[in-house]
Amino acid sequence: GSKSKVTVVGSGNWGSVAAKLIASNTLKLNSFHDEVRMWVFEETLQTGEKLTDVINKTNENVKYLPGIKLGKNVIADPDLDNAVKDANMLVFVTPHQFMEGICKRLVGKVRGDVEAISLIKGMEVKMEGPCMISNLISEQLGINCSVLMGANIANEIAVEKFSEATVGFRDNREIAEQWVKLFSTPYFMVTPVQDVEGVELCGTLKNVVAIAAGFVDGLDMGNNTKAAIMRIGLREMRAFSKLLFSSVRDSTFFESCGVADVITTCLGGRNRKVAEAFARNGGKRSFDDLEAEMLQGQKLQGVSMAREVYEVLSHRGWLELFPLFATVHEICVGRLPPSAIVEYSEKKPRLS
Ligand code: NAD
Ligand code: 13P
Repeated sequence: GSKSKVTVVGSGNWGSVAAKLIASNTLKLNSFHDEVRMWVFEETLQTGEKLTDVINKTNENVKYLPGIKLGKNVIADPDLDNAVKDANMLVFVTPHQFMEGICKRLVGKVRGDVEAISLIKGMEVKMEGPCMISNLISEQLGINCSVLMGANIANEIAVEKFSEATVGFRDNREIAEQWVKLFSTPYFMVTPVQDVEGVELCGTLKNVVAIAAGFVDGLDMGNNTKAAIMRIGLREMRAFSKLLFSSVRDSTFFESCGVADVITTCLGGRNRKVAEAFARNGGKRSFDDLEAEMLQGQKLQGVSMAREVYEVLSHRGWLELFPLFATVHEICVGRLPPSAIVEYSEKKPRLS
């Protein structure tokens, strides 16, 4: 019939929660097939079992979202081609660094009429310039791709605490409404906004701000300093987004994907947490080390994002305009000490 079939590509911390949200709705709504496929990047657990088998047996992603039932209609599938082949709605939610490879594998494997949405907070910098992940998906697969971003720490949504999110769409409002329907629950309120670039850049850039906030925490600088970093960060997010895409709207930064995601990630996110540890160690232990030790397989996006942003800034001669973004990268690579995060802003707050 004309029921939509949904596949989630990705099964990390947020990917698993997204599958749970969606699966609770496909059971209730007639316009969707009950079953939600979830592609799992297969791995063998310490017990010797395959992660996919354990998810299908226990209905829990014991590695990335332990203790949470996903819903019986979530079916884990380690075979990417098989997971996507019948879907007409694809939800992409992996760490951004894996998406280029996944897109290559998916060329010619998805249905012609498929609609996609990206929950991925990141971008890639190519020779031609920055490329948003939704764009990578659109271009490589020849399909339309919306985005969903917001103040959405996965573990809090997993236990059904209220939050909001923003769907960014290009021109088709009906498709945006379809995504809103698929994701909305009483505890997850989704608002569509016709500014796909603005929404996606918010989600991407706030991870750089969160690294800065983590440094401030590691230096025990207190709440006022952290708030200052968040404010300056938000201004740099807006300025950078508008320089890249003149269509980006100011109002987008007041949606969940903007100011609210900056706040929650700077208070409670993984980027913040690992950056705090980095600063407490005086920058002597690398982010890769700390990530592996502290996150049990989950991935940071902010450090690589700071590098990609820095590349754009230096390539275009904009470094001076974005002292916070630039300084975060220089601290991450060890060219500046963590304390530089506030020294620069005392001396040259160019976006005040
Ligand atoms: P995660 O950080 O839990 O990452 C781990 C996932 O990456 C696992 O599923 C793992 O199997 C997979 N993986 C590891 N190596 C891989 C490879 N070579 N190829 C493909 N997959 C591989 O993932 P997440 O939290 O679901 O994050 C996905 C995206 O969602 C990110 O862009 C993140 O910024 C964003 N996001 C996360 C949260 C959150 O609270 N976790 C909230 C909102 C948005
Ligand atoms: P972290 O990856 O820093 O945990 O941020 C999660 C997030 O995007 C919350 O909206």
